[in-house]
Amino acid sequence: MTDNLTPEYRRKTMQAVKAKGTGLERSIAAMLAGMRLKGWRRNVSDLPGKPDFVFDSCRLALFIDGCFWHGCPICRRPLPKANRDYWSRKVESNIRRAEKSNLALELQGWQVLHIWEHELKNPDSKRLVGPRIRAICHERSEVDHEYSNRSDSGNQSADS
Ligand SMILES: [Zn+2]
Repeated sequence: MTDNLTPEYRRKTMQAVKAKGTGLERSIAAMLAGMRLKGWRRNVSDLPGKPDFVFDSCRLALFIDGCFWHGCPICRRPLPKANRDYWSRKVESNIRRAEKSNLALELQGWQVLHIWEHELKNPDSKRLVGPRIRAICHERSEVDHEYSNRSDSGNQSADS
């Protein structure tokens, strides 16, 4: 017996996994935990674009962009042949929405970092993600003080 999972079971498992965030997000979460970076939150719905991760201490908003959904220029994932117009509009609107939320976040003093799905799938480039985050946070620790002094009233202390 090689495989005792029925297709139905497998489908349900996939759904359960999706409900908790994509595999990529979970892999990043595990990496951040391993790096002992503090003060990050996941799936932050109270900020423009709903960043996948934010680091409040250095005001860094991190997005993990699916190569298909965000029209990655490196992977150039082909659109499905059926309803090509629909898909291309969908990808276009994802790109435009991301641009808008980048701007909105930057106006609020956030540094925005987008990471492509393909960067996380390749172990060599994945290894660089952590140090990049660390470098940005380090660089911005002074900026952080400015902002935290300005906005320490009515700040939410949510940390799940
Ligand atoms: Zn890509």
